[in-house]
Parts: sequence; structure tokens; C-alpha cells
Amino acid sequence: MKMQKNSFISRSVHNLKPSGIRKFFDLAANMEGVISLGVGEPDFVTSWTVREAAILSLEQGYTSYTANAGLIELRESISSYMSNRYDVQYNPKEEIIVTVGASQALDIALRAIVDPGDEVIVVEPSFVSYVPLVQLAGGVAVTVETKPENGFKLLPEELEAAITPKTKAILLCSPNNPTGTVLGKADLQALAKVVREHDLVVLSDEIYSELSYDEQHVSIASLEGMKERTIVINGFSKGFAMTGWRLGFLCAPADITNAMLKIHQYTMMCASTPAQYAALEALENGMDDLQEMKRSYRHRRYYFVDSLNEAGLECKTPGGAFYAFPSIKSTGLTSEEFAEKLLLEEKVAVVPGNVFGKGGEGHIRCSYASSMEQLQEAIKRIKRFTHNN
Ligand code: PLP
Repeated sequence: MKMQKNSFISRSVHNLKPSGIRKFFDLAANMEGVISLGVGEPDFVTSWTVREAAILSLEQGYTSYTANAGLIELRESISSYMSNRYDVQYNPKEEIIVTVGASQALDIALRAIVDPGDEVIVVEPSFVSYVPLVQLAGGVAVTVETKPENGFKLLPEELEAAITPKTKAILLCSPNNPTGTVLGKADLQALAKVVREHDLVVLSDEIYSELSYDEQHVSIASLEGMKERTIVINGFSKGFAMTGWRLGFLCAPADITNAMLKIHQYTMMCASTPAQYAALEALENGMDDLQEMKRSYRHRRYYFVDSLNEAGLECKTPGGAFYAFPSIKSTGLTSEEFAEKLLLEEKVAVVPGNVFGKGGEGHIRCSYASSMEQLQEAIKRIKRFTHNN
């Protein structure tokens, strides 16, 4: 039966496509013995000291709102972190907002800069929220495909070709979800030159910044002439294994921060207070635990990527995040067929690449943030599957 359009629902929401990832989770949730490589989150529990800091804040009775932009101590700590780790200076009083995850940060950043009809360039394959968030902000998402032969890196000439007089901004994500691609300094410099020439804004999603395995993460905001036109989006979900705490942050020049803060104060008031105390502890004392988690992902990355190649699924070693994005073209199946068959025949859940937009077809996304035992069992099943298909 065709879904009736409910006239109560706004056109912009009615026209949004549901996330393609959900379909596979729903299928997998009703099956027993499934190994899920589908979810995009760390398999670690948040460090105990971080959890303890939140408990302590509750014991001390810190249960009221914080400043709209977040606890000043936390903003100061974020400011030092951005300076020490990524060599870019932000004034904690007027250039940083603590948000409800990187998700809310992306939402308010887009709403603060997009006028109806403005074009925002989205580099695909991309995180599934980007296009819908641009559309909800009233913008037009212009998707640009990156190619496996370029390591899924956006080339400056590809960016140049996508720019029109209506282009307002570009959304970049490094390390990338779903490809794991890391944009190094030279890549970013080449893109930044085009951005400056066309007077664009960069929304730089750096949520995986701490999970860059082969080179130090570079924030595009740290490049010459870029801080004034960049909104950095980051948070605690991935590096610090804090997805459920819902805590992220934004760094941007004061006038843009002020605009984003207007939306934030009317729609969110502030991020959760205990979560902010937890995040403060994570930044102040959580770096050793983070490095340990990172070492563990790196170790699993080597095993998993080598094994996918052995299974006949060509996969380059991704530089960051915790995703492998192998090609499944050797099987002759589409990504959806592959993912569905693999789930039904071998009970391994992966995400078909087509849900990440252009350039994703012919690939699957597998998260290797699972235990070694689970990964080994998943590989055994994938090898059997590719052998039989
Ligand atoms: N950006 C990217 C690229 C992501 O992969 C995710 C989560 O998967 C987010 C943003 C959202 O992160 P958060 O949990 O901080 O809202």
C-alpha cells in the first residue's frame, strides 16, 4: 500500500528520505546470532574516571542549566585542546559552543549560515545526516562524488567544478565516515585555496580527529586565512567513547558563533550538565585512555583490512575512524544485495555503500570497532560467503 501523505506533516519533512542504515538494523534486530559490523560507535565503555566525574557532579548537586554556550571551564579546556592538539586558537568566551553531540553542532552551523536556496557542497560518500540537514536548513545539497582511485579524496578541480554563484559552503569530513579517508595538510591546502578564491564557508566535521592512525590530524581551520571562514565541528562521541552522553562542540569566529548561539539558546538552552562535567574530565585527564583505545583500533584495522583482502574484497587501508569500506564488485552483487544476502546467509550485518550517496555503490561499510573474537568470526563468515557467491 502506498503511504498516504499526512497533511499535518510539513513538506520539507515529508520529502526527507529515511536513513538507509535503519532498514538493516531493523532486519538484524529480529535475528539471533548476528555479528553487527553496522554500528558507528566505539565498543569501549567510557573511562571510569569520566563516568565518576559525572557521578560526582550529581552528588554535588550540579543539576541546573549551565551557560547557554556551556560551562566556561569546559570551554576553556576545549580552547586549550584545540590550541595544543591542532594549533588553532579560539577564545573560550566568544568562539566556542558546547552542543548536544556533533549532530546538533552540524544542525545549528548549517541553519546559521544557509539562506533559502543557498547551495552547500557535500562530499560523497558521506555521513548520512549531511544532505537531510542541509535540506532542513532550507539549502540545496550539491553532492560531489569522490573516487576510490583517488583514495576517496576530493580533488581541488572537482571542488572547483561543483561551485556555482549560489554556493555558500562546503562540508568536509576528515577522517571520513564511511571511507576512513584522511585529508592531510597538502590535500587541505589545495582545497582551502579554492575555498578562499570563491569566498566559501567550510563546515569541517572533525569528530574522528583523534582517530587518525598514520599521521597527525590537521584541522583546516589552522591553515592560513581559514579560521575566519571555518566552523569546526567536533565532540566526545568517538575518540573518548562517549556516544550516549551526547556531547559535542563548535569552534568558529565570534560573529558566526554568536549567530549559532541564538539558535542554540532557543532550541536547546544548553547541553546536559553532568555530561559537561564528564567531558571536562575527559579532556583534562582522559588522553591516556584515549591513546590506549586508539592503539587497539589500529591493531584491529590491520587485521581486519588484510582479512577482507584475503576474502577477495579489495580494501585499501583507511587512515582513520574505525571503518573499512571495501569494494564488493568482485561478487557481481549490488551493495544492497550483498548486505542483505550476507545478513540472511551468514548473519553478519554491514551497511551497503549506496546509503552514503554517490560513489558508495559497489562498496560496503564495516565497522571494526568490535572485539577481535567477533571480527575473527565475522571474517570466517565473510570468507565463506565470498567463496559461495
Ligand atoms: N559526524 C560524523 C561524520 C559521524 O560519523 C557522526 C556519528 O556517527 C556524527 C557526526 C555525530 O556524532 P555525535 O554522536 O557527536 O552526534
